[in-house]
Amino acid sequence: MRWTRGHVSANVEDRRGRRGMRMPGRRGGTQIGCGGFLMLLLLSVVFKQDFFSLVGVGPGSGGVASTPTTDTSLPPGQDPHKELKEFVSFVLDDTQDVWTQKLNGYRPAKLVLFTDSVRSACGFAQAASGPFYCPGDQKVYIDLGFYQELSQRFGAPGDFAQAYVLAHEIGHHVQTLTGISTKVRRAQAQNPSQANDLSVRMELQADCLAGVWAHSTAQRNLLERGDIEEGMGAAAAVGDDRIQRMSGKRYINPESFTHGSAEQRMQWFRRGLDSGNADNCDTFG
Ligand SMILES: [Zn+2]
Repeated sequence: MRWTRGHVSANVEDRRGRRGMRMPGRRGGTQIGCGGFLMLLLLSVVFKQDFFSLVGVGPGSGGVASTPTTDTSLPPGQDPHKELKEFVSFVLDDTQDVWTQKLNGYRPAKLVLFTDSVRSACGFAQAASGPFYCPGDQKVYIDLGFYQELSQRFGAPGDFAQAYVLAHEIGHHVQTLTGISTKVRRAQAQNPSQANDLSVRMELQADCLAGVWAHSTAQRNLLERGDIEEGMGAAAAVGDDRIQRMSGKRYINPESFTHGSAEQRMQWFRRGLDSGNADNCDTFG
């Protein structure tokens, strides 16, 4: 994909460097107990030197969660995903520019970058459950490490595969703004036996909406050879369980849950891609 390096998006919320959101057993900043704290305090007083800074902790940093709105991005020299952050920032703004033109009253979603785990209006999430969109705060959440998984575990490499994942989540945002998500959740509550089928249709529609954006990138000559195949590869490879979580279930029963077949997902992505028209994304008809 042809994109602009160095891109900075006003809608990216970088929470990757955050302390105090660690899960037990996770690596992170240095943790000290009360004994350690007293020892460091004693050493600092005796030697008149700040021993806390020597071991990389401040007296107040023992696992206190900070407010979830501040940018805690890593210093540029220490960011292992510097270019990837620029890429997702570019794709985020590009998808949302397209939807601003297509949809009256479009309001941009935020993209939250996190490491390992994150707190959202939809609850606490682990990176292992993949990127997701939360309608409660209208934010997309992604641990950039997911892209390595996408490439290696799901066998879907390439920058357009990465872009596709984001465009799919923005598709869920479009569904929220247009009121489709609310309608579907209501229908699911009324007809539990239909809940799974409706979830699949939501997912396929998000694929189609990602395709609508992809159509626009093709028109603007942003695509390179192999990009569409990469996007289709991602459509086929990635399943997500966001809708069930949105609909209030605490866990997913893998027996009953399906995201639509790889073929269906590619077919709907292709439909958006070929037409560039969201009206062709009626997966509920
Ligand atoms: Zn989805």
